Amino acid sequence: MKKFDVVVIGAGPGGYVAAIRAAQLGLSTACIEGWQNPEGKAALGGTCLNVGCIPSKALLDSSHHYAFIKTEAAEHGIHSQGATLDVNRMIGRKDRVVQTLTQGIAGLFRKHNVEWLQGWGTLAPENRIEVTPVGDGAGEPYLVEAGHVIIATGSVPARIPPAPVDDVQIVDSTGALAFRDVPRRLGIIGAGVIGLELGSVWARLGSSVVILEALDEFLAPVDRQIATEAEKILRKQGLDIRLGARVTGTASNNREVTVSYETPEGKQQLVVDKLIVAVGRRPNTSRLGADRVDLKLDERGFIAVDEHCLTNLPNVYAIGDVVRGPMLAHKASEEGVAVAERIASGAGHVGYATIPWVIYTWPEIAWVGRTEQELKSEGVEYTTGVFPFAASGRARAAGGTAGMIKMLADAGSDRVLGVHILGPNASELIAEAVLLMQFDGTAEDLALTVHAHPTLSEAMHEAALGVAGRMLHF
Ligand code: FAD
Ligand code: NAD
Repeated sequence: MKKFDVVVIGAGPGGYVAAIRAAQLGLSTACIEGWQNPEGKAALGGTCLNVGCIPSKALLDSSHHYAFIKTEAAEHGIHSQGATLDVNRMIGRKDRVVQTLTQGIAGLFRKHNVEWLQGWGTLAPENRIEVTPVGDGAGEPYLVEAGHVIIATGSVPARIPPAPVDDVQIVDSTGALAFRDVPRRLGIIGAGVIGLELGSVWARLGSSVVILEALDEFLAPVDRQIATEAEKILRKQGLDIRLGARVTGTASNNREVTVSYETPEGKQQLVVDKLIVAVGRRPNTSRLGADRVDLKLDERGFIAVDEHCLTNLPNVYAIGDVVRGPMLAHKASEEGVAVAERIASGAGHVGYATIPWVIYTWPEIAWVGRTEQELKSEGVEYTTGVFPFAASGRARAAGGTAGMIKMLADAGSDRVLGVHILGPNASELIAEAVLLMQFDGTAEDLALTVHAHPTLSEAMHEAALGVAGRMLHF
């Protein structure tokens, strides 16, 4: 039986990063992964690279280019009559981006001496793991022994009984990343991150999109000022967002899906060509054999871990989407690094308080730290600086003036408690705020930092000046 210092189960952004870091630290490392791509080939990268972050951003970028040509290019004096859409080519490009990146991880494994065990891993007693090979000519299951185990088995789309996914007309996010035609009428259940991102993709490409959201509030976790403004902009872009909508059933024939739902106004129906179910994700422990080794799960099915990602079993850690905390690729990766370092040296750290969030609509929404409503409910005294992109020279030159940067700082110490952005390139701009908060910085620290002109980052500088009531350009 082969023995490794570390065996990682799952090769998403949690698992593959943990494996690389463990190997860098001199630990003999294997990573078990059974994912097969649509061509039946074994693939690393997990949800994020295969059917998540990367393919969705490829389509968001492609569809953004198309929408720009259709609706904004003329304003810049660029006329492009007759722009047409080749959805198959767009999807093909997305698939090639995915293939290049997933093959890149296989290269990184070779470079760092991580052994990829192709198959599904099931926990067995005494830190052993049974590997069931997959694919053509897969051999018999076999056991490997691990000094330490890192479980990184991720998550899968949540299901709801009134809308069973048939992968033809009713799909989850994976299906919605592979449509071969633009659905004329597209329904989406859930106005969360996936609903808004994929709703944006297909709306830009020409679908008429209706999003049914159970909650009365739009983007409940987001700062209210930002969410209210984002809702207005997204509605203007054509997303028909219906809040307080409880889906009660669906019926599909070969052509269309009828969705029944209830709002405070009564029973309603919606007829669409395709329906995307995007109501959250649930931890994936289906093949792990948690029962066989008494691995403890919490009441929601996540693997129970302490603050160091240690499970109830000695030397068995769990990271990423399969444990508590935000279901984000960078959170999974950071936990992977921290656990590898803990195994190698006894210490590892994740900055949970400064994990950034991004929603890749246009304009993008990004934030770090606490929202204004959270500070109010906690009774924290704070000061606010809000700078609109409409007052930014660079945003105006580029033609993207919607949105704002909002900075919240402690009224006493001036320490930055939260930064919220709705605007162009918010996904990149937020990094400065993360760094500032990671170093426990104040709004004044940022106000004293020189920002290049003309850049969008000047809006961050102005928001920091705004905390002290001394914005220069607004
Ligand atoms: P996963 O990426 O889910 O990987 C888990 C891996 O474990 C899988 O490859 C699976 O096959 C494997 N596995 C499971 N069980 C076993 C077993 N028993 N044996 C062997 N292997 C096993 N996050 C962001 O931060 N930014 C984004 O822009 C973003 N966009 C997203 C868009 C979409 C459409 C979706 C669905 C998700 C998106 N996410 C995004 C979320 C992100 O994909 C996840 O947070 C991230 O992939 C979690 O990483 P992970 O390593 O924990 O799990
Ligand atoms: P989500 O939690 O963001 O949104 C789900 C939405 O569905 C919520 O607003 C919820 O109220 C609503 N909902 C739940 N049940 C419903 C029902 N029966 N009827 C109508 N609405 C219902 O989840 P998601 O959009 O599915 O995405 C899953 C996770 O994947 C995200 O939370 C995030 O962690 C990750 N993700 C991240 C990114 C990113 O970082 N840009 C992108 C996509 C996904």
